[in-house]
This record gives sequence, C-alpha cells and structure tokens, in this order.
Amino acid sequence: MAESFSFFQKVNKDFDRAARFTDYPRGLLEQIKICNSSCHFTFPIKRDDGTIQTIHGWRAEHSHHKLPTKGGIRYSTLVNEDEIMALAALMTYKCALVDVPFGGAKGGIQLDRREYSESELERITRRYTYELIQKNYIGPGVDVPAPDFGTGETEMAWILDTYITMAPDKLNAIACVTGKPIEQNGIHGRKGATGRGVVFGLQEACSFAEDMKPLGLSPGLHGKSIIIQGFGNVGYHAAKFLVEADARVIGVIERNGGIYDPRGFDVEKVAVYLAETGSLRGYPGAELIENPSDGLELACDILIPAALENQLTAENAPGIKAAIVAEAANGPTTLTADEILQKRGTMIIPDTFLNAGGVAVSYFEWLRNLSHVQLGRLGKRFEDQTRHAMRHAIEKATGYKFSEDELGLIHGADEEDLVNSGLQDTMITAYQEIRETRMKYSSENGPVDYRTAAFINAIHRIAQSYIQMGIFP
Ligand code: NAD
Repeated sequence: MAESFSFFQKVNKDFDRAARFTDYPRGLLEQIKICNSSCHFTFPIKRDDGTIQTIHGWRAEHSHHKLPTKGGIRYSTLVNEDEIMALAALMTYKCALVDVPFGGAKGGIQLDRREYSESELERITRRYTYELIQKNYIGPGVDVPAPDFGTGETEMAWILDTYITMAPDKLNAIACVTGKPIEQNGIHGRKGATGRGVVFGLQEACSFAEDMKPLGLSPGLHGKSIIIQGFGNVGYHAAKFLVEADARVIGVIERNGGIYDPRGFDVEKVAVYLAETGSLRGYPGAELIENPSDGLELACDILIPAALENQLTAENAPGIKAAIVAEAANGPTTLTADEILQKRGTMIIPDTFLNAGGVAVSYFEWLRNLSHVQLGRLGKRFEDQTRHAMRHAIEKATGYKFSEDELGLIHGADEEDLVNSGLQDTMITAYQEIRETRMKYSSENGPVDYRTAAFINAIHRIAQSYIQMGIFP
C-alpha cells in the first residue's frame, strides 16, 4: 500500500495533530509550519573522465524565528525539494525541543557518493558551497550546515575552506559550519554526538519502571536486545555506546543485507569488516539477513532505524516485534506505520527528540568557534589542582584511600567531558519535558503519543518566541 503523503506533508500532519492541543491563533501556527525559504540550484562539474554532468542541489531554511538557521547537508539519490523542506522543518522542531537557539534548515545534493571519486566529491562540495555563498545561504549568523547522511568531517572541512576564502568576516568565519575535524576548529565529541545522544535518550526513556512495564520490559538498558538499521555515523556510534551501556546488539542491517546473532555483536569488529569489505555479507559466525527489510521484523526489545526516512511502512509495520522503536534516523516511520505501531502499544521515541544530540553538540561547536577558546581550557588545571588538594586533605584527615575508579572522577573536566555532560543534560531535560507533556495531555480519550508531546513542546517554544518579538498578539 503506497503512502499518500509526501515526507513534508507527513511532518505537517504530525504538527497539526499537536497544534490541536494548543490555542494559538491559526495565523501563528501557519507561520510556524510553513517553510520560510528554499532554493534549488544546478551547476556543472567535470568528471574525472572529462564528461560534464549537471548536479542538482538544494538548501531550505524552514524557520527564521531564530538565527542562524542550522541543519545538515546530505548526499543521496533520494534528495529532492520536498525531502529537504521536511528535514528542515524537523530541524526547527528539534532545535526548539532541546532549547538550542537556531531556526531549522537542511541541504542536499542528489547523488550517490559511491559513484564519485574523492576529487569529484571535493569539486562538487566546493561548488555547492560557492552557490550557498552567492545566494546568502551560509554564514556564522545566517545559516550553518553540518554533516548528515552521506557526508562527514571531510566535506565540512571543504565547506569551511571554500567559505573562508570568500568571507568578509575572517575572524568568525570558522563558525560557518559544524561537524568539522578537530584540527579544523571542530569540537571533541561531535563525531559520535548523535549516536551518544540516542543512547542518553534511550537510557532516560527506559529508566521509568512504570513506562517499561506495559511493554513487558525491565527498567534500564542492561541486557536489552537491539537491532540497528544503517551502520553509518549514527548507527555505529549508537551501537558502540549501547554495548558500553550493557545492551546487546543482535542485528545490524545495511543496504545489501544484514547480520543476526542473538549472543550480540562486537561492534568494532563489525565496523572494521564493513569498512574493509563494503558489506556485512559473510561476517564470520553470523546468520545472514538476505533481504534487509526482513531484519526489521526480527524479535528484539529495541529497533533503531538509523538510515533514511520511510523505512517502517504499512507493509512491514504489522510484522515489527520490537517493544520500542527508537528513531535515530529522520522520518523513518510513515504515517500508516506509526498508526499501526501506536495501536499495538509500541513505544515510538521520535526523531525530533532522539537524534537531537548532533545539533546540540553542533551548538557547542559554534559557541566554541565564536569564543575562540577550547571548552574547559581556562579552568582545567586549576580544577585538577584544587580537587587533588581536597583529596589529599580528606585522605589525611580520615585515613580513607580513594579507589582507582574514584580517582578517575576527580580530574578537571576537559572539552569532551564538558561536551558529553552538556549533551546528557540536554537529552535528559528534553525527555522529561516530553514525558510531562504526555502525561498532562493524556485523557480518558487515550494517551498522547511521544511524537505529539514532542511537537507540542516545540510549538510552545517557537510560538513564545514569535509572541515575544511582538509579531503576534
Ligand atoms: P551515514 O551516511 O553516515 O550512514 C548511513 C548508513 O545507512 C550507511 O552505512 C548506509 O550504507 C546505510 N543505509 C543506507 N540505506 C540503507 C537501507 N535502505 N537499509 C539499511 N542501511 C542503509 O548517515 P548518518 O549521518 O548516520 O545518518 C543516518 C540518519 O541519521 C539520517 O536519517 C540522518 O538524517 C540522521 N541524522 C544524522 C545526524 C548526524 O549527525 N550525522 C544527526 C541527526 C540525524
């Protein structure tokens, strides 16, 4: 059964469902929902074999209620205007939800990066950046891209280098893009931030015994069985931190097949195998999942789609057995699949919340770039010294000897400690706010789902900022 809504229409349907729980004027809700601006551009590139190809790129800025706007750039054959506007809208709601002061944006280039050489990708990325500069769709106070599907640190470094050569304000130009390599003014912890945020979010969601009981689960991540679809930046890091949190990753699904082992995988070994062979097929000791979409229907406690939108559909939702669907990807669940899963009592932890760790840490990177100082640099040694002085005083006065584990905790915080702590706080606070809203608006007519509760919180925050601007009474 084909879905009758586009991705952007789906996001707007989710918005409308939540808006019914608010009493803001219709005009204000329309203003929040609409995409403020979007741009499609084409440009030629010369391929390595001398042929000329036309490249299609987009950038959408969904909401200018806060500036700069912020959102990733993806390289995928599925990129089109509707997808980019939907993803930009999700960014607006995500930033509002986790209280990061940006409007939402998204960009993309319609290509499969596996079909291009490194130098072709560099030429395309630099030319795309040049188009963004010409159209005023990039700048530290204007619009700040980041990595997304099919892009990473290398592309962000090319974007920075291209922007800096043309930037009027050289001092702050380094804040024009986030997700950069550390050596190019990136921040420690950004690469794994989205995956780590997924795990902080899941840890918090699974910590409430009364929410886990109806799902037939015990509280905590310990021993939970996990299946992950998409083993790229987000999927790999989520898997890595889940195993550190004592969960078992029993299935990994990639585009040309998956692997299954109920004993749980060594995530690092899987990552090395995938990087070396380009596929999970033939991974030693694992059962092959021939058809990737079958993997979504295997029994597990938590299913984590971490690839692309529209993966849980009307066709496969009836077969999905996971008690929790944790949306690490953007828009992985179609409207119909959502209805089927909600009816069955599946807990869906929505993308707007669960993958917000990336933009939260991008915010820290942007702040670091504008302040021109590494987080923690000024205080670290001082903190180290005072804590060790206290430790010696306590040991001397009480005779107590601190253990190795305890000593590990009393060093001064470095940049990654601060980033991870800020990320954890962001995810815990946002989850608790969603949970409170859910309880507040649930009634005898039925519970409000987590996605709707997340949208309600986002709408309130954006509406308040318009009202404070005096635009709406
Ligand atoms: P990525 O390019 O690093 O990895 C994506 C992985 O998914 C790749 O390994 C790819 O082979 C695999 N894949 C593609 N199609 C698949 C399919 N049909 N079935 C199974 N696997 C498939 O991308 P990413 O950065 O990890 O992004 C993944 C999702 O997370 C996207 O929806 C993105 O918008 C979202 N997201 C990413 C970030 C970030 O910081 N990178 C932040 C927030 C949200």
